[in-house]
Order: sequence, then structure tokens, then C-alpha cells
Amino acid sequence: MTLYGKKDRENREVVDPIFGSYSEDHDLPKYKLDKRAVAPRIAYQVIKDQLLDEGNARLNLATFCQTYMEPEATKLMSESLEKNAIDKSEYPRTAEIENRCVNMIANLWHTQPHDEFMGTSTVGSSEACMLGGMAMKFSWRNRVKKLGLDINAKMPNLVISSGYQVCWEKFCKYWDIELRTVPMDNTHHSLNMATVMNYVDKYTIGIVGIMGITYTGEYDNIEQLDKLVESYNQQTDYKVYIHVDAASGGLYTPFMEPEVNWDFKLKNVISINTSGHKYGLVYPGIGWILWRDKAFLPEELIFKVSYLGGQMSTMAINFSRSAAQIIGQYYNFVRYGFDGYHEIHKRTHDVATYLAKEIEKTGIFELINDGTHLPIICYRHKQTPPAEWTLYDLADRLAMKGWQVPAYPLPTNLDNIEVQRLVVRADFGMGMAHDYVEDMKQAITDLNHAHIVFHKKKELKPYGFTH
Ligand SMILES: *Cc1c(COP(=O)(O)O)cnc(C)c1O
Repeated sequence: MTLYGKKDRENREVVDPIFGSYSEDHDLPKYKLDKRAVAPRIAYQVIKDQLLDEGNARLNLATFCQTYMEPEATKLMSESLEKNAIDKSEYPRTAEIENRCVNMIANLWHTQPHDEFMGTSTVGSSEACMLGGMAMKFSWRNRVKKLGLDINAKMPNLVISSGYQVCWEKFCKYWDIELRTVPMDNTHHSLNMATVMNYVDKYTIGIVGIMGITYTGEYDNIEQLDKLVESYNQQTDYKVYIHVDAASGGLYTPFMEPEVNWDFKLKNVISINTSGHKYGLVYPGIGWILWRDKAFLPEELIFKVSYLGGQMSTMAINFSRSAAQIIGQYYNFVRYGFDGYHEIHKRTHDVATYLAKEIEKTGIFELINDGTHLPIICYRHKQTPPAEWTLYDLADRLAMKGWQVPAYPLPTNLDNIEVQRLVVRADFGMGMAHDYVEDMKQAITDLNHAHIVFHKKKELKPYGFTH
């Protein structure tokens, strides 16, 4: 038997396999810093292991966020992690790349030649919506002050459908705005055009239209909204304008449904945001916001940073962040071009259509969104006959195979309806979709034969759905 002393053990650590090393065996404190350092490869393995039983991103059908990028993109991004996007002077090439991306998006969104558009990257759509909302609030205030309105008499409001994403609630809370929601109901699964203008008054800072309602994937009818706003504006000095939250549609619709009018082609659309990390195909977090003309971006919100001896305008809530995502977005734009994005989205769309058909074929579900527009499938149980199991049970069965598929109630007024949603992304190929359908059918069979499923009362709860 060999006996090792202290010195031996220290020597061994360098050459030992990770498992069996003293450091790996040593109980690392979880909630405070350890006093000592550990070797990099051991830290790597320990942390990698902690993440082992986390959900597999590729099997996550709950998220809109990108879960795959090409190795070249990942390489480029990891090689630019240290660049700080805000340091325009140090990284003028990166600043130029961001500028190019803004211009490319402006072109996709049909900015008009006589307008002077402005735009910037953000951490995601949430930051972009915050900036868009602030610009709306400040321009509203400047406009109505000139008209002599007492801006303190009432709280300003923002009009949006009840299918809004939580970032709008945050915006309204943080900036003292009344969130005026136009309820969705059984016949209106998007912004209700018959009632929306009833919510507008002199204190409305703007109306938000959504291109891709997070819950269902449906579009608000922005073209019709623009017409309603136009005739409203014809009759009043208290003009109102539209911001489009195109977090998921902004980099999908232009490639797939160029005939849909939703962007700066429409006169009253003054700003649009999108998430580069959704159908822009970049890892999180990157978003974009553009204003059709600098007239809609009040000067007081713009800050100057130094740039090659001169000054550059910026607008952001955040200051320092890595430029890697901006460079990743530029890689995708250069690499795929218009046709590439179209092809990728088209295949994603084909997979969504296939899934919708298979879900319909089961005969037990009713499709709420069949992936015609965004490749998002949303369905509920057919009302009759009532199944003995819920969509939460189905989500659990699917989770056993690694699939993450959320079930949740629809927003206010429709919250008695429990739905399940599949977000199809570029990296969810037809092969995976076939596997998924097999697992889904098996799960349904299992549930139909199970008698232990027992619910005291029907409860609705969000399940794995947080964004
Ligand atoms: C995802 C989403 C957001 C938030 O976007 P992040 O990029 O995750 O911050 C906002 N609005 C809509 C409609 C969304 O789908």
C-alpha cells in the first residue's frame, strides 16, 4: 500500500484526472466565495457538471430565443467578447458595423427616402421597448404642452392589446404611465379594431401594435390600425402614433410575408423594435429599435459620446456591454443575405405547418394558431368530450423525454382557456419534428391509459412559460 503525504497530494493535482483530485472532492461553498482558488480545468468541470441536468436548449419549444448559431459565428463572437459596444472611439469598426446593421434593418422596414431614420442596438426588445416608450412619452409631452394641455391633470396612458408582453407593463410602471389594455376575447385574438380607438384620448402617448403576440403568435392588424389612427388624427390636434412591437415578427415577416403592410410604409408607424435573438437568429441578447424620423426621438433623450475626436449620438439605458452580439448579427446579415433568411425561415415554417397538421390529426385539439404567419403553434383541448388529462399533464409527459413545451392560460378575458404553445425555431429541423410527433403521440396514448391522473379541481397555472 502506498502512502501519500501532503506534498505528494499537491504535486498530484496538476496531473491527476479531474475526478479523484482533491479540489474536485473538496466541498466548495455554494453561497460565499471559497478562500482558495481551484485550477481552471477543475472549475470548468465542476460548473459544467452542475449544469448537466439543465433543460436542453435545442429541445426547448418554449423559447423564441435563438439556440443555434454556426461555428464561424460563435468563433467570431467569442473572439469579440472583450469589445465594449459603448466605446465607440476604441472600437470604431464595431460602431460602423452597428451602423450598417441599423441601415440594413431600416431598409427591410421600408424607411421612406424623405425621412431621416435613427436607430440603435439594445440588449433585447425589452430595452428597445423601454426606449420606444420613453420617446413616445417625451414627444407626446412636447406636442401637448404646445397645445396647452395640463399634463399634470391626468396620468398619460399607453394603449395596447391585453396580449402584451410583460416589458410594456414594466415600462408603464417605471415611467408612471397608465397601461390601457384593449381586451382580447373569443373572436379577437389580437388587437380589437372595433374598439381600440375608444381607449385613445389626449393623454395617450401612443398605441402599440404587436407583430407576433407572445401568447399565440398572431399579428395585430397594423395596416388597419394605421387607417383608424389616420382618420382620428384628421379630426384632432392631439395626434396619436403607433409603435410596433415586432420582437418576433420584425426579422421574420419581411422575409416571409412581404405583402403584409406593417412597417414604416404606414404613415403613422413611428417606431419599431425587434429582438435580434429571436428570428434575427443571434444568441441572446440583442435587440434593435428604429424611429422613422428623428422628429419622433426627442433631443433630450440623446446623449453624446466621444468618437474619434468627434461626437456620436447614443440612446441606451445600459452603458457597457459586449459587442459580440452586434457582430453576431452582422455575421448573419452578411452570411445569409435576404435569400438566406428567407430559406431558413421557410424551412422553419414548413416544420411548423407539419406540426400543426399532426396536432390536428390527433382529433383532440383545436388549433388557435396554426403557424400560417409566425411559425408558432398554439392549441387547446377541444371542448367536447372533455379529456381526463390536462395540457399540463401532457407537458409533464413530454418533459420526461426532454421536450420543454409550456402550457398556460391565455390573458385576461380568455384566461379560462388553457393552451399549449410550440415555438418552432431554425434549429428545429424536420427530423426533430418527426421525433417530437412520435413522442407526443406516445404521451397522449400513455395519458389516455393512465388512471392515476387526478385533479381535485381544474387549476390554471403558468407552466414553464416566463416570457
Ligand atoms: C419576446 C418579446 C419581448 C421581449 O423581448 P426580449 O428581447 O426578450 O427582451 C417583447 N415583446 C414581444 C411581443 C415579445 O415577443
